[in-house]
Amino acid sequence: MSVYITDSCINCDACIEECPATAIVSADDSPVEGGYTYVKPENCIECVDSTVPKCADVCPTEGAIVWDMPYTAEYDDYYLAGQDEGRYKFRVHKKKGMLSPANQPRPFRESVSAQARENRENVVA
Ligand code: SF4
Ligand code: SF4
Repeated sequence: MSVYITDSCINCDACIEECPATAIVSADDSPVEGGYTYVKPENCIECVDSTVPKCADVCPTEGAIVWDMPYTAEYDDYYLAGQDEGRYKFRVHKKKGMLSPANQPRPFRESVSAQARENRENVVA
């Protein structure tokens, strides 16, 4: 991914308009169960061209947006397992097939450590 929205989210939807990658959808449009605003990891580019992740910059809720693993082929199994567990739901492209990381790797912030990602640390803007 990416970043991940947790159950601390208050569904204010402030982040949706800010995302440059149209990666965020409201709870009503989320492809997974849970009732929270959702980040599509196959779209998220971690705002690598900006100084800060724009979603976190406007989010009023501590702990609502946390780091997830890079959306790269190396983590394909991780994300597919997450889909099996209901955390993600990847779109299926007509030609490319399911947009898991192996099929659609995304840019990620190399400055964020694997440890911080594994620990689901807050994305601080
Ligand atoms: S980090 Fe950037 S690209 Fe990813 S969901 Fe947040 S605003 Fe969108
Ligand atoms: S801005 Fe934060 S609290 Fe509001 S919908 Fe987005 S993640 Fe949830």
